[in-house]
Amino acid sequence: PERVTIIGGGLAGSEAAWQLARRGVPVRLYEMRPRKLTPAHRTGKLGELVCSNSLRSKEITSAVGLLKEEMRRLGSLVMEAALASEVPAGKALAVDRERFAEYITRRLSEHPLVEIVREEVREIPREGLVIVATGPLTSEALAEDLKRLTGEDYFHFYDAIAPIVYADSLDWEKVFRADRYGEGEGAYVNCPLTKEEYERFVEALLSAEKVPLHPFEEPRYFEGCLPIEVMAERGRDTLRYGPMKPVGLVDPRTGREPYAVVQLRPENREGTLYNLVGFQTKLKYHEQERVFRMIPGLERAEFARYGSIHRNSFVCAPRVLRPTLQLKAEPRVFLAGQITGVEGYVESTAMGLLAGMNAARIFRGKDPVVPPPETAHGALVRYLMEADPRHFQPMNVNWGLFPPLSLPPKERKRLPKRERYRLMAERALLRLEEWLREIGEA
Ligand code: FAD
Repeated sequence: PERVTIIGGGLAGSEAAWQLARRGVPVRLYEMRPRKLTPAHRTGKLGELVCSNSLRSKEITSAVGLLKEEMRRLGSLVMEAALASEVPAGKALAVDRERFAEYITRRLSEHPLVEIVREEVREIPREGLVIVATGPLTSEALAEDLKRLTGEDYFHFYDAIAPIVYADSLDWEKVFRADRYGEGEGAYVNCPLTKEEYERFVEALLSAEKVPLHPFEEPRYFEGCLPIEVMAERGRDTLRYGPMKPVGLVDPRTGREPYAVVQLRPENREGTLYNLVGFQTKLKYHEQERVFRMIPGLERAEFARYGSIHRNSFVCAPRVLRPTLQLKAEPRVFLAGQITGVEGYVESTAMGLLAGMNAARIFRGKDPVVPPPETAHGALVRYLMEADPRHFQPMNVNWGLFPPLSLPPKERKRLPKRERYRLMAERALLRLEEWLREIGEA
């Protein structure tokens, strides 16, 4: 075939189309809107933002700020549109959503190598290079067809995201390492609660502010993975017999099982991130900070990811994807955007950028590439590959995903956090430039 097919003209699909076209590769981009809208989109424009108009921090000492800087250096259309439609928002990059989507639509429509077809794709084309970028609200027919390639068990329609905290923000004096019944190698970190602490915590959960469900989100889907606050509503002791059960966990300080326990599970190999097991939640972000910091050991916890539950189509990336974003089962098919298992506008766009770049390389007979893990793009890809497939949930970019600086741990700890992040960002950008030269994309 003489072109690459992209399905979905959202953030990732638009970026992928641009990356192909700017490398001289013809693209056919299918977008079902405006004929058929998703439950969240309102217009027919490419790159429509469905909710907030913020692409988050502009600062390089923030991981999402670094990701945007890398994208800018990689010739991102979405970044170009964002800078052209920026509105004042302090340290955040916020955009005028109309002008933003207008810009993306115009640039792609004007490009001689991009053909835009306004049609729902119900089946993945049976030949040629294809990028699937149909997003969190992928249409039903296509989702069914995708499942054929990923397997039923590795395609999800809802996420259930538990908060993740930075290891270095835990109070290690209060928590203890142990696996239930002493089985395993002590990977879990446990926060013990007394009866009083447990009751106060449940009380706070019940009265905390929650995010309402979208009209298209059905509560019945959550039954298998109830939000922690809904469990708490079902009875005083429900949590103590559910995710907060203490059985088989002896606190070495008291020699006894605590009244209740919050278990933290390492989220990555470096052990820089811990997941609050079973704590998927619809609490508002600031409420998560307030309420979860009541847990002993988490008083000063810093959150790398907040908990949430959404309607969200995504695959179990560590099972179905290659690090090049090709499907293991059918490498001529790429996934891009939120469906790969990343979370957020910028992260989704970045996964469109990489898919577009790699599809262009394959189209030209070159090998696909994987960005180095020191870069924000590479850190995200590495998460997709190395996360535990049994508990896989979408991830936003954050510093815990990066390899630590190669300094002695003591020295690293002594550096102020901002300084550490600045060094990690500098390392990322140097590595990015080096990599682009190595692969001939500079
Ligand atoms: P999308 O931007 O959704 O693009 C997918 C495109 O594919 C759409 O244009 C859709 O119409 C099209 N499509 C779907 N199926 C087909 C088909 N079969 N054939 C042809 N076209 C098809 N992230 C944030 O960072 N901030 C937020 O505030 C935020 N709010 C969100 C609110 C909601 C309600 C949802 C669902 C998600 C939100 N997200 C947010 C998460 C996510 O970052 C965005 O959804 C982002 O747009 C994902 O980019 P994408 O390119 O993967 O998907």
